[in-house]
Amino acid sequence: SQISDTETSSDRHWPRQNSLSLREWDIPFHELELRDPIGQGRFGTVHRGIWHGNVAVRLLNMDQIGDEKVLESFKLEVATFRKTRHENLVLFMGACMNLPTLALVTSMCKGLTLYTHLHLRKDKFSINKTVIIAQQISQGMGYLHARGIIHKDLKSKNIFLENGKVIITDFGLFSVSKLCKIHGRSDALSIPPGWLCYMAPEVMRSLKPSSEENDELPFTMASDAYAFGTVWYELLCGEWPYKEHCPEAMIWQIGRGMKQSLANLQASRDLKDILMACWAFDVKDRAEFSKLLKILEALPKKRLLRSPSHPVHLSRSAES
Ligand code: ATP
Ligand code: MG
Repeated sequence: SQISDTETSSDRHWPRQNSLSLREWDIPFHELELRDPIGQGRFGTVHRGIWHGNVAVRLLNMDQIGDEKVLESFKLEVATFRKTRHENLVLFMGACMNLPTLALVTSMCKGLTLYTHLHLRKDKFSINKTVIIAQQISQGMGYLHARGIIHKDLKSKNIFLENGKVIITDFGLFSVSKLCKIHGRSDALSIPPGWLCYMAPEVMRSLKPSSEENDELPFTMASDAYAFGTVWYELLCGEWPYKEHCPEAMIWQIGRGMKQSLANLQASRDLKDILMACWAFDVKDRAEFSKLLKILEALPKKRLLRSPSHPVHLSRSAES
């Protein structure tokens, strides 16, 4: 599985030691001061909290008291989180690993999400800022992938901008979520708005009608790269691709490799090429984040060599 792949050999050979070090990340629930909820997502409620300062606490929806198997899987995910140390990733601080209350404690992101900037506030970023944001996302994602961790839910709602610095959240949460939904409802595929457009064709084709069957979607590093392509599209035009399509049409079209038309997108060729590198139908044609980062880093230099006037549509500047 994904987890065991990322375990170091010492973890595998010294399981007792591993569980000891995992214990260091256990936060007794009573030590947390739970404050008001910030919001509810698919994977539980996020609260403001105090634990040696301000923290974000994600309470996992446990409909019923989970069994030991659920707890073991949760601990495996926590073992992954504690390995993430990068300035563009949210800081994992610990977890409440005692049933019935499972919770993840991370640093509190101070800024707004890219989603809020682009879709709610309709902020426009300069092209320079857009490129810097994309570079930072690629850096964080490249780090995750180098550690063998697949995000599985990269989207503008999970990317914060803190004083111009990108903070990626919720990596690996999709795997935790399946633990919570074991006892949940499974009557219909519930599709939150703005989720499908991040799904790679091969993931799209594996969607099953009931959400319970969607626990094992074939997410890969390449499907993360596809999702980044959608974030790049949002950055360029402030909208989601396929925004005027119903879910059924999106599943059908994206699954077959059709792409959002870029005819009306006012951006230079090299900016559109990045979209194509991420949205490639064939998994092996999709760019890795290390390559995307190189392409993005080469952009400003290229632009300086060219006419100073392009692209012009991204002008009104947002945030700091
Ligand atoms: P979805 O449910 O589709 O994944 P989401 O990402 O907005 O959407 P959650 O991740 O559950 O849902 O987050 C719920 C709320 O908490 C959101 O408003 C999110 O911005 C906020 N939030 C999540 N993590 C943090 C954090 N570390 N710091 C500050 N706010 C956070
Ligand atoms: Mg989120």
